Amino acid sequence: MAPEPEQIPSRTCGCRDCLIDLPPERYGQQPPHDACTGPWRVRYHNETGKHRAKNLPTLRDAQQFLATVQPKAVSRAS
Ligand SMILES: [Zn+2]
Repeated sequence: MAPEPEQIPSRTCGCRDCLIDLPPERYGQQPPHDACTGPWRVRYHNETGKHRAKNLPTLRDAQQFLATVQPKAVSRAS
């Protein structure tokens, strides 16, 4: 099973989730968004088996990147 990109909170995003993780009283006012604009993090293993993570601006970018680095399922080591 391929790991899904996960969206991470952004200080420049004002969606509900980001406001919870990054409260305005601590991180400053953020313009409200209905949909989160935070970057997407993909986790993968590189050619040498090292665990890597990379942030991409959109889900599409993240999925496309994942397709280039992950020809086969990544083992789920804990
Ligand atoms: Zn957000």
